[in-house]
Amino acid sequence: MAATMYQRDPRAGLFLGGSRVSGAEIRDQNVMACQTVSNILKSSLGPVGLDKMLVDNVGDVTITNDGATILSLLEVTHPAARILVSLATQQDKEVGDGTTSVVLLASELLRRANELVRNKIHPTTVIAGYRLACKEACRFMAEQLSTKVDKLGRDCLVNVAKTSMSSKILAADDDFFAPLAVDAMLAVKTVNARGEKKYPVKAVNVLKAHGKSARESFMVKGYALNCTVASQAMKTRVQNAKIACLDMNLAKQRMHLGVHITIDDPEQLEAIRARESEITLERLRKILATGANVILTTKGIDDLCLKEFVEAGAMAVRRCRKEDLRRIAKATGATLVSSLANLDGEETFEATSLGFADEVVQERISDDELILVKGTKIVNSSSIILRGANDYMLDEMERALHDALSIVKRTLESGSVVPGGGAVETALSIYLENFATTLGSREQLAIAEFANALLTIPKTLALNAAKDSTDLVAKLRAYHNAAQNAPQADPKRILMFYGLDLLNGEVIDNRSAGVLEPTISKIKSLKSALEAATSLLRIDDSITVAPEQK
Ligand code: ADP
Repeated sequence: MAATMYQRDPRAGLFLGGSRVSGAEIRDQNVMACQTVSNILKSSLGPVGLDKMLVDNVGDVTITNDGATILSLLEVTHPAARILVSLATQQDKEVGDGTTSVVLLASELLRRANELVRNKIHPTTVIAGYRLACKEACRFMAEQLSTKVDKLGRDCLVNVAKTSMSSKILAADDDFFAPLAVDAMLAVKTVNARGEKKYPVKAVNVLKAHGKSARESFMVKGYALNCTVASQAMKTRVQNAKIACLDMNLAKQRMHLGVHITIDDPEQLEAIRARESEITLERLRKILATGANVILTTKGIDDLCLKEFVEAGAMAVRRCRKEDLRRIAKATGATLVSSLANLDGEETFEATSLGFADEVVQERISDDELILVKGTKIVNSSSIILRGANDYMLDEMERALHDALSIVKRTLESGSVVPGGGAVETALSIYLENFATTLGSREQLAIAEFANALLTIPKTLALNAAKDSTDLVAKLRAYHNAAQNAPQADPKRILMFYGLDLLNGEVIDNRSAGVLEPTISKIKSLKSALEAATSLLRIDDSITVAPEQK
């Protein structure tokens, strides 16, 4: 409904010509555009949210309920709405999850701020109030609502992964995929030079293979390449691998089209042909001379060269994906080499370009032949091979898995979690309401609105689950109010971890129920939503430059 209103709104046309829109009018326009975007996403929030089917202009279909994916596929042209889209993309990049929530929150904050401005509160005051509210909320969340992961153990990581998967295609098989995601992330643990533990998501390679059922997906340690060795005669296992990653053709060198050479002796022709082959062989020998025993290239390898590799006892793999080689290079410490020519125009291959791994092996896993790079030197790697009926399923499974991996990473790196299902939002809402009344300034009003805006998450979750949101949220608020008014050691404080059980339409202890999310991702969504809302609120003039008159 909102979308149609916006399209029919004659003011929207002002963007096409030279024009100026100011004050309340521009704020209304921005709010309406953001509301339109958030209304699209609203129904997909939570474990019982619905999916969207998006069809692009060539007829490709994507079925998803991932906020960032939906927004990236929509063609959003309104400048304010585009800010929300970039907000979701940023959240997806940095945290990997929470994209729908952040958009809903930002648009609700903006709508409420606009109401305040209409009631003659200056935008600067609203922004100051919002900022203070966000700061207090983050502090309260870190101090009172979060629990250390070590206290909860490995189960906690599995539960975090399950919560992230609960709204996605993997929900039905979360007991299978959540431990898989946790194992894959634990396998890539790397300690950096500063002694910090890092879990890079990119070190987990996700391969998709048609056929079989989702539960026949599996994880292997090492970086898996969906390729085979270039020749049957070649070794299929190399230990203490010295890996050359190449982005160049190891085929016979041919002269460029249009080159004319006049010769008067057929032997010279032979000599040219021989030289053409010799050039590639020379390159290859330079690479082998550095001790390389595994050669991976994104392009082809000539039969002539294959013989050379076999004789040298090296393994060569052709037609690897460039992205895979980039990641292998990073994990093994190699450099992806696209040309052997140095600055002086000579062709050399430095031993420093090689990467190292304990073993590179071709293995038959399930019914696929895969090349596995095991024990990579710089960053450990692991791979998950997804099985699924068709492309749509596999793509959506990959997106869901990516979110879960990112969330496990955040949990492992930050080490603390908060209960989900609207528990945090309600707790913060009650806290901020009380906090607002302690202030005697105008910011009080903005903080109270911030508190109310947070309730949009539990309300939408309950609504999407076809439950009575008014009843449930009121009950939840009563629990949290009791918890926060109780003294520190009182057993009532446990009510602080209560959130929604969307399947049964009840209010339960979500920390014990295992509905957990990393604290850092909640903090990040609050901060990002605040940034987006305030940057839009600050706009009080929109000037479109007219096209030049001829
Ligand atoms: P986002 O894109 O924002 O991550 P999701 O559709 O994944 O959106 O929904 C996340 C929301 O669903 C979070 O607020 C989370 O607390 C809630 N949630 C996830 N699993 C459950 C569950 N089992 N019970 C209640 N709430 C849940």
